[in-house]
Amino acid sequence: MGKIIEIKDLRVSYHTYAGEVQSVRGISFDINKGKTIAIVGESGCGKSVTAKTLMGLIQTPPGEIKEGSQVLMDGKDILKQSEKEWEKYRGATCSMIFQDALSSLNPTMNIGNQIMENITNHYTVSKTEAKKEALRMLELVGIPDPVACLKKYPHELSGGMRQRVMIAIALAGKPQVLIADEPTTALDVTIQAQIIDLMKDIQKKLGTTIILITHDLGVVANIADGVVVMYSGKIMEKGSAEEIFYEHKHPYTWSLLNAAPNLELGYKQKLLSIEGTPPDLINPPKGCPFAARCKYCMNICVDEVPEEYEFETGHKVSCWLYHPESGYNNIDFGSDSEEAGYEG
Ligand code: SF4
Repeated sequence: MGKIIEIKDLRVSYHTYAGEVQSVRGISFDINKGKTIAIVGESGCGKSVTAKTLMGLIQTPPGEIKEGSQVLMDGKDILKQSEKEWEKYRGATCSMIFQDALSSLNPTMNIGNQIMENITNHYTVSKTEAKKEALRMLELVGIPDPVACLKKYPHELSGGMRQRVMIAIALAGKPQVLIADEPTTALDVTIQAQIIDLMKDIQKKLGTTIILITHDLGVVANIADGVVVMYSGKIMEKGSAEEIFYEHKHPYTWSLLNAAPNLELGYKQKLLSIEGTPPDLINPPKGCPFAARCKYCMNICVDEVPEEYEFETGHKVSCWLYHPESGYNNIDFGSDSEEAGYEG
């Protein structure tokens, strides 16, 4: 499968009274057609800003997409689109589902009209055809009584049903790419599993490319083909889901996975956190952004942004530990190595 999205050196800032917040600081990655990529990281790492950029939702000002940034969709730089082209693109090429369905749905319009609106905005069809298609979408997302649902208003549905309706609206324009920004965060665990299964099913049936923005590693393990780990507006590590979960190479990825509770251990486990806080993005550190919280930090980490090292499988990591002269080989994060504080 070929690439559908190529993000090249994307940099996005917000101008505030306190100064320029450099939310996304030169990220690059590709997404293959029909695959699911998860972008993970702590709040404020730039994952949602990246998603908003893909949807053309960065408001300027205060936002600014920096010169030289490129987002190629099927080879075309969408950052150069006119507002008219963006209108066509949103919903038909790329759609987005948000975390809180209740505040994203229109409370004054019934569900049928909200789905039909996204169909008639992009395709010339009669009202009857649009209604038939809306019904088909509700069936596709597993709404039990789709005919009755067409006439309902958002407040008459449960949280899980509202999220299904959001997915139906997003799919109604037949997008090639679906961006799901924390799609299960507001739902309880059973419904979360149903929504994840639904997204997997839709991908199988329609071949949609999915970009999942989340901090929930359980969701990622369930659905993602590839994972991009972000921190302080930069990419720390990217690879297949297997590589990130079982062969992670970056201290931040390890810390993130280590901080996730293990349900099998129940109450017996000690809950771990990553000590310290992410850096101020108005004055980001000149070296590695994770340096202040990293137990492997070396002198070079404080002074220089790490290079990106690529392994044979395409797994990439931005960390000085992988420089041939770092002195580290086969880092075993799990052993809580006492090499911390190594002065390189
Ligand atoms: Fe830690 Fe240095 Fe790697 Fe950053 S570059 S994660 S500070 S070892």
